[in-house]
Amino acid sequence: MKFAADRMLGRLARWLRVIGQDAAYGPQLSGYGLIRAARREGRLILTRDRALAKKSPPPCLVIESDQFREQLRQVVRACQLDPLKQAFTRCVECNSLLRPVAKEGLEGKVPPYVFSTQEKFSLCPTCRRLYWPATHQQRMAAELRAMEFGSR
Ligand SMILES: [Zn+2]
Repeated sequence: MKFAADRMLGRLARWLRVIGQDAAYGPQLSGYGLIRAARREGRLILTRDRALAKKSPPPCLVIESDQFREQLRQVVRACQLDPLKQAFTRCVECNSLLRPVAKEGLEGKVPPYVFSTQEKFSLCPTCRRLYWPATHQQRMAAELRAMEFGSR
C-alpha cells in the first residue's frame, strides 16, 4: 500500500512513515500535482479537500479529522494496516527504507553516550540520517500505545 498525502497532512505523512508505510508528501503534492503523482505511482491519495476528492478518479481517502491521531486511526482502519508490524523501518524525514548499519564506524558520528549504550543502528540511504531505538523510537512507541495501537 502506498500513499500520497496532500500538503495539509504533513504530520499524518510522518506518522505513516513511523509505522513503516510508504507516504509521499511535499510542497509539490497539491491539487493536480498530487493527482498526477498518485496516478503515476499507484498511490492512494489522502486529502482533507473534498473538492479534490470529487475531481480525482484515482482512489482517494478523505481525511475527516484535524487531529493527527484521529487521522492516523482513520487510515489504519480504512486500509487495515498493522501499525506495529513494520514500525521504524522507514525514514521519517524522506520516506526511504532504512538499512541496518554496523556499529563499528559510527564512533564520532553519534553522541558518545549513544555509542556506548546502543547496539542497533539504522541508516537512511538517502538523507544519511542515523536512527537508533532508544530515543525517538521509544517516544513514538509510547505515542502509538497512547493511540491504542499497542494493545491489540
Ligand atoms: Zn532519510
